[in-house]
Amino acid sequence: MKYAIFGDIHANLEALETVLLDAADNDCTDFVCIGDIVGYNANPKECLTIVREMGCPVVKGNHDEEASLDTPLEGLNPLAKHALEWTRAQLNEDDRDFLLNMKLVRQVRDFTIVHATLDTPGNWGYVTNKFDAMASFSYQFTQVCFYGHTHTPRIYVKSDSVDALEEIEIDFEMGKKYFINVGSVGQPRDGDWRASYAVYDVENQHVEIRRLEYDIETAQRKIVDAGLPEMLANRLAVGK
Ligand code: ZN
Repeated sequence: MKYAIFGDIHANLEALETVLLDAADNDCTDFVCIGDIVGYNANPKECLTIVREMGCPVVKGNHDEEASLDTPLEGLNPLAKHALEWTRAQLNEDDRDFLLNMKLVRQVRDFTIVHATLDTPGNWGYVTNKFDAMASFSYQFTQVCFYGHTHTPRIYVKSDSVDALEEIEIDFEMGKKYFINVGSVGQPRDGDWRASYAVYDVENQHVEIRRLEYDIETAQRKIVDAGLPEMLANRLAVGK
């Protein structure tokens, strides 16, 4: 049994379709979404419809939350704000209800999923180093937790200490815990423009983060055609 674990799609339909095809090619039978389905890119409605129709477990991201509300957009950078106002206008009430009612943390089989952190999931803090990871590990009651939010794939391991690995592939060992950022489908920020997601092979207790080229030109053209900030199209190409 293999899970495809994906998130931070951010309305990038070309990247999402590429990831789902690759997951099927790699014999993934189960799918899990770790949030931020919408925001930034040009196909929020289409990406949300795909995830809803998959009926897979999903947790809420900060952009999902902002898109689901009617409250004024505060504390966001101008690019995110413009994109979210546009995104809200693309979604109907039923879509927004779905986003609003997603949970912050879920357990799926024997692992946990969260968008940002386990210590304060609704505060949308960023885990960018082993000290942040340590705080999250204190609230992790399964051996493995998958998360996103930073748009940077990373595997943290807790044994006697907490360490960030260089590798993006790992075999789980008894007695250790793992906090795994699966990277971003639709807007990677680790300097690699390719879509990112994880394949979890349950029988072999193995996780691999995969990177995939997708039709970035089409995704960029749609952003410009929608009147969204051109910088959102440009950043896709540099993975920032
Ligand atoms: Zn995100």
